[in-house]
Amino acid sequence: MFDPTPRGAALIETMTSFLAEHVYPSEEEFEAQVRAAGPGREQPPVLEQLKKTSRELGLWNLFLPHAEPGHEPLSNLDYARIAELSGRSLHLAPESMNCSAPDTGNMELLSMFGTPEQKERWLQPLMEGTIRSAYVMTEPLVASSDASNIETTVERDGDEWVINGRKWWISAAARPQCELLILMGVTDPDGDAPRHARHSMVLIPKDTPGVTIERDLTVLGYDPFESHVEMVFDNVRVPATSLLGDPGAGFAMSQARLGPGRIHHCMRMIGAAERALELMIARAKVRSTFGSPLSDRGVVREWIADSRIEIDQARLYTLYTAHLMDTVGNKAAASEISGIKVAVPNMASRVIDRAIQTFGGAGLSQDYPLARMYAETRIVRMADGPDEVHRRAVARTELRRHEDAVTPAPHGVAAHLAHLTRL
Ligand SMILES: Cc1cc2nc3c(=O)[nH]c(=O)nc-3n(C[C@H](O)[C@H](O)[C@H](O)COP(=O)(O)OP(=O)(O)OC[C@H]3O[C@@H](n4cnc5c(N)ncnc54)[C@H](O)[C@@H]3O)c2cc1C
Repeated sequence: MFDPTPRGAALIETMTSFLAEHVYPSEEEFEAQVRAAGPGREQPPVLEQLKKTSRELGLWNLFLPHAEPGHEPLSNLDYARIAELSGRSLHLAPESMNCSAPDTGNMELLSMFGTPEQKERWLQPLMEGTIRSAYVMTEPLVASSDASNIETTVERDGDEWVINGRKWWISAAARPQCELLILMGVTDPDGDAPRHARHSMVLIPKDTPGVTIERDLTVLGYDPFESHVEMVFDNVRVPATSLLGDPGAGFAMSQARLGPGRIHHCMRMIGAAERALELMIARAKVRSTFGSPLSDRGVVREWIADSRIEIDQARLYTLYTAHLMDTVGNKAAASEISGIKVAVPNMASRVIDRAIQTFGGAGLSQDYPLARMYAETRIVRMADGPDEVHRRAVARTELRRHEDAVTPAPHGVAAHLAHLTRL
């Protein structure tokens, strides 16, 4: 079921050897280079080399489901398998294929809603991998999982938009290659438009006067591989042509952006969980306590079995969702996209947690990829919408689907009433 096309199958083969021959052997060097430079500060040279190789192998930009000059799109179902494999090396493989967040979602936005001029200025270099970008929505002062709360103002002044506000958790913005900020702000704060039609997206060159990065944020108390920053926009001015899409369409576009982004996260998390299970099994076979290997212990076998069952369930749910996106469209598949966004990162957290436990102290150290994988899966339960917001969306769809449901009288009560009327 959900078999890849011939092109998809060939790419899976190429991807598997790319990982084995180029990516896994570079992981240690990548970690050392990132540590030396600080999170998201310099482009690690090993990453540049991998980008060249992946491009030569035809593994470049595979995430983009729309046709663009020089780009032949893959179906979501075919890409699901490739993204799963890339998730096995969560921090290195996706970016070396130009398939990492937040650029992927930003390229989709530009591809779907950009004018020809905006595409030429921003989409082309992003697809070439010569620049990077950030998505600037979340704010410290309002609950941003409800995007209609966003308060940063984008006001029209003659031929310009003027932006004022504070944002945080902005991934990749501190990278020297990051040249574009796609910011969500309110363009109609007091108007008559409904709450979900008051926000717009604006394209801001990062070097515009008034844009300041104030500080780096740690994740779970540690420096992440990617930078996440708090930043301020103080009277930032951009030309009127910098609005992406229509005024007031920001909320709808953010939904369009996050749909595919969510499934990409899930596919990668499945790859991470699969690699964690492999590591857990390999370790359990060689570590012995009290006279037998850990792999002989009932509790460890239960962890292995539960992990296999949960990964396979999650993979099928994700492939089914990718199939729906390809056949009925992202909008009709919205409930399933929310469903996997809850199911998969939670599954991956459990599997990686078991692997860490099997490894003992080593599992929490920097010597194995498990600790970082764990942090990453924990992030995904929050980023791109917390679990509770996605459960809310699934429940809403289910309640709508069963709008006409009626509660039959319980048999016991009916029989009791009949008995009473006979008395
Ligand atoms: C590492 C990392 C990277 C990120 N990268 C980016 C980025 O690049 N760009 C960007 O704009 N943002 C980014 N984010 C921000 C992320 O998307 C937000 O943190 C997330 O959307 C939640 O918003 P919030 O933090 O304002 O939480 P709030 O909106 O304050 O929500 C807090 C909690 O309330 C609960 N909640 C919310 N709604 C409901 C409900 N209906 N029912 C029950 N409970 C509910 C949830 O448990 C939620 O966790 C990133 C976050 C992290 C951690």
